[in-house]
Amino acid sequence: MFWKKLFFYTLFLFSLLSFSYIYTYAGPDASEAKRIAVIGGGMAGVSATLFFQAGNYQVELFEKEQALGGNARTLRFKPDDHDSEVTVDMGPDSFAYGAWNSYIDLLNYFDLFKNEDVTAFSPSIAIYKEQKSRPILLLPGSNISPWTTLIHPSNVSHSLSMLKFITQARSLYTNPKANPYETVDQWFSRHNFSSSVENTMVKPLLASMTNATLAEVGGVSMLHSIQSLAFRSVWDRTFYISNIGLGEVIKIIGKKAEEAAKGNVTIHRGNAVIAVEKTAHNLYQLTDQNGVVREFDYVIFATHPYQAAKILSSNKSFSDLLSQFKYNRTYIAVHKDVQEKFTPNGVRAFYNIRLNHQGNFNLTMNYHAINYRYKNVLKSWISERSEIDRLKNEGLLYGYTEYYHPVVTPKFLKLQASVKELSKQENHQITFIGGWTTLFETQDTAIRSAYLALKELDPELAAAWGERLPSLLEQ
Ligand SMILES: Cc1cc2nc3c(=O)[nH]c(=O)nc-3n(C[C@H](O)[C@H](O)[C@H](O)COP(=O)(O)OP(=O)(O)OC[C@H]3O[C@@H](n4cnc5c(N)ncnc54)[C@H](O)[C@@H]3O)c2cc1C
Repeated sequence: MFWKKLFFYTLFLFSLLSFSYIYTYAGPDASEAKRIAVIGGGMAGVSATLFFQAGNYQVELFEKEQALGGNARTLRFKPDDHDSEVTVDMGPDSFAYGAWNSYIDLLNYFDLFKNEDVTAFSPSIAIYKEQKSRPILLLPGSNISPWTTLIHPSNVSHSLSMLKFITQARSLYTNPKANPYETVDQWFSRHNFSSSVENTMVKPLLASMTNATLAEVGGVSMLHSIQSLAFRSVWDRTFYISNIGLGEVIKIIGKKAEEAAKGNVTIHRGNAVIAVEKTAHNLYQLTDQNGVVREFDYVIFATHPYQAAKILSSNKSFSDLLSQFKYNRTYIAVHKDVQEKFTPNGVRAFYNIRLNHQGNFNLTMNYHAINYRYKNVLKSWISERSEIDRLKNEGLLYGYTEYYHPVVTPKFLKLQASVKELSKQENHQITFIGGWTTLFETQDTAIRSAYLALKELDPELAAAWGERLPSLLEQ
């Protein structure tokens, strides 16, 4: 009797165990879901998280800072002569139809492009595109028309030279594959411009667009410079500022991705990844700053190359390649130095670009855009730390960020192509996304780069997102 009972109990226990075994391991989607790590919570990383969570994936996003946003951080503060707090974006702060279509699609998708969410304004500098293929440079002024270029500059010969430059630039813009790796200097040697026009007008403009110094700009990619100009295009002559801040928008999208995924997304805020290594089972082992190790099927790097190089230091082919990208360090300051002390000699170099003591360019970013909303609040792109300290000491600083801006030379573009090739050899299990992976770094290209990664790994899911955000298909 006892043996009989024991037999049935044992049978019962075994069936329980095997049921829990089946339950745990043969669960519907969980066992098949691919594990994806996304490193970096800027626009690119957040977009990748949003895209992949809609499929059969377990996504873990790691962001080293406490808040998502990356370069597009938003500063919230109370200026002296204001009654309440205001928001100023430390990175990009305005967007327009034409150059930012994927971004606008995404805002609309989350219902973040309502009238009360944006302020519309006319820019001080823009490239007006009559058609997609015809970028036209416009000079400062709110009344923008294609004719402004012809009539505004006081010097007639300069304005004619500018017109000639725009025509030549337009032909490169419309035929980008003709000579993708040509430098600014090489381009000028093929075109007949006077050295005064070259050095006092066009090169300063190109340098400001690519954040290169005057000394560097000759070696910068001409195509990239021209695309930077064209990116300032306005289809309907209107730029928009997000009232809540572009950085805040990224936080919202991150939150929505978490909510939509119903547990399939984990966002680790304030947790830097320090290493990624391949395992014997063709997986990738990720170590975070707390020493916690996790395994993933795919790792998507949404950081800049210099950061990815450190994380992949055990993989010589990747780290050697990634560490060759060149960057400039810049500070972005939001301040109230209306005395324009950035130009000790009082010279305005070009539009709202000023020279510093070394002859490097400082670009007062979207001066008009911020001034339009908040009187006496300025945002400047500053290359010297001493200037930040001076602003701080004089009580003129509201906030600043440190930013590594890529200097896009032809070598940079070749390196980009090699990184893509190496990623292909790794079966896209290690992928690189981010504004920098496309030719021209913007919020929009950050989103698109995430979409390209999705297309490589899951074309069906990519098609589904293409229906929701149609401008993603325009590439
Ligand atoms: C002043 C300024 C003006 C700009 N103007 C414009 C503009 O007008 N229009 C436009 O489209 N673009 C503009 N840009 C560029 C735009 O901001 C970038 O293209 C875009 O923000 C890049 O997003 P990203 O996700 O690729 O990279 P990032 O925003 O750089 O995100 C990378 C993230 O990775 C995180 N990270 C790094 N290392 C680690 C690690 N080890 N572990 C975990 N996380 C890590 C970083 O903290 C960061 O959050 C501007 C940028 C600046 C600074």
